[in-house]
Amino acid sequence: MSSATEQAREATGTTDAPLLAVENVEVRYGVSLAVRGVSFEVPENGAVALLGPNGAGKTSLIRAISGLLDVHHGAVRNGDIRLAGRSIRGLRADKIVSAGVAQVPEGRLIFGALSVEENLRVGSSARKTPGADDTLAQVYDLFPVLGERRARQAGWLSGGEQQMLAIGRALMAGPRLLLLDEVSLGLAPKVIEDIFERLAGVRRLGTSMLLVEQNARVALGFADYGYILESGRIVLEGPSAKLRDDEAVRRSYLGIRTDAADHGFAQGKHYRRRRRWLS
Ligand code: ATP
Repeated sequence: MSSATEQAREATGTTDAPLLAVENVEVRYGVSLAVRGVSFEVPENGAVALLGPNGAGKTSLIRAISGLLDVHHGAVRNGDIRLAGRSIRGLRADKIVSAGVAQVPEGRLIFGALSVEENLRVGSSARKTPGADDTLAQVYDLFPVLGERRARQAGWLSGGEQQMLAIGRALMAGPRLLLLDEVSLGLAPKVIEDIFERLAGVRRLGTSMLLVEQNARVALGFADYGYILESGRIVLEGPSAKLRDDEAVRRSYLGIRTDAADHGFAQGKHYRRRRRWLS
């Protein structure tokens, strides 16, 4: 037993395909290779973190999954991306949303001139299943502040409220999988804590999550399993608790000084080969 999916299968006794399987994916922007044959999985009901320094390829992978690479003049050149066993590679972004994948983009990208509720309604436009009104009620339940401010122009919300709105808007698509790109960016620790508590509530309702985060402390506190990406490759993976205990992760990502020999990621000297814990 080792991968996130294998662990979840063991816990639930199921043998189904993972909810998301990224298989040997390569992403290019023109001639430049940003992601070099990456494979990872998100199990059904799982929360998985993708960590790594600036430029490691995290956002490129999120764009590859959500079908938004072409907007950024990039493309998946190799490999496959499967949702519950079915390939979604090459589908249009709105079809990917309809298939059950919604993204909370870095920088939130809310419509400042629209009201909170109008922003949320935009999120249901690619939804295939009925029940948008029920989901709206659920979003207001999960994020009461959005209900209180439903008629307010979104541009007037605080940073934390805007992030909640971006999450709520993604939920309006009724996703099975939520892609969260740098949710904690620019927010105060208390606000981050509040948002992740609410995301735990979203997870309890059955939505799986893939988080891209530079804040490793927060991500590993929330996710069950993590992958560390460096220069377009996964160099380390394992259950969050094990990653939190790893010397190099503690030093390079959690800001904890250790006396161990120099094996930080930043120097790129270590973990040239993918490492995986066997438990
Ligand atoms: P960050 O947290 O800084 O966004 P990241 O891990 O998300 O880092 P990516 O944004 O995916 O990394 O970038 C991976 C590589 O792809 C980097 O070398 C980056 O310069 C390059 N890249 C990203 N977007 C583009 C683009 N639109 N055109 C060309 N190169 C790009």
